[in-house]
Amino acid sequence: MRIPPLLLAAACAAVLSAAPARAQDPTRAFGDLLRQLPGAGGLLNPAPAPRVPATGDLVQMLSESVDTVDEGKEIEIGRQLAAVLLGSKPLHGDAALQRYVNRLGRWISLQSARAHLPWTFGVLDDPGFNAFAAPGGYVFVTKGLVDRVDEAELAGILAHEIAHVTEKHHLQALASRARSGLATQLIASQVRSSAAGNFVSAQMLALGRDLYARGLDRGDEFAADRQGVWLAARSGFDPYGLPAVLQQLRTATPDNPLFTLTLGTHPPAQQRLEQLEAAMGTRLDAYSGKPSVPIAQRVRQR
Ligand SMILES: [Zn+2]
Repeated sequence: MRIPPLLLAAACAAVLSAAPARAQDPTRAFGDLLRQLPGAGGLLNPAPAPRVPATGDLVQMLSESVDTVDEGKEIEIGRQLAAVLLGSKPLHGDAALQRYVNRLGRWISLQSARAHLPWTFGVLDDPGFNAFAAPGGYVFVTKGLVDRVDEAELAGILAHEIAHVTEKHHLQALASRARSGLATQLIASQVRSSAAGNFVSAQMLALGRDLYARGLDRGDEFAADRQGVWLAARSGFDPYGLPAVLQQLRTATPDNPLFTLTLGTHPPAQQRLEQLEAAMGTRLDAYSGKPSVPIAQRVRQR
């Protein structure tokens, strides 16, 4: 493996900061925000998702078994978590950039094992360096991240997040939290402060905020790194995009607030590099060495 001299930190991460989520129907919030973007059109609107009754106790279902959560309910859970995230950080207003990131993300997702999901990608109006996913095909990156990477690097990050979705990492983490009774512990204050009064949504908000603040298991992050590199290569991008951006992250000082959450919710950089090295070897070297394409150039072309 042609390893960048030093490595890494994280590509996905947790944005959910201290900002409280808004008291609104989360399943509506995401669509409403997307429609507010000028010229967003159908590209920003997710493909029609199977509708499930909003009255179902999704958290209870999760606490019993992930196996009881069919794809429609998985997507509904993802919609609620996406709304939780968007309640903290709104979408960026650059519609051309949103379209580009959606095209790029959907192309990569088409090479994944779950190409049929209603994949939706968004750029959040936040200067931090973060990316994260929610079940059912929701992937977000921050504007601060997009501004610091080229196309192959962004492809690697999106592929890492797509892998989290296809492997149901967040769904399983939510189920684990639900089984532990965490939702019940967290929920009391949420219910009292929620004007919406939607118990299921309030539970999901509590679980989601905890999940995105603490991050996934290390094993899930290593797995998403490995799959992300392969998925990016399969999509035609330089497989070293993800290692390169992680190298960039590694140089960030831990006390830089723009990187604090990303660094804090992921395994140490060196461990991720070692895992990637073991998985990649030199097998993908033939696909590397492609010229860097600035994202601004791509956005202007469209
Ligand atoms: Zn991750």
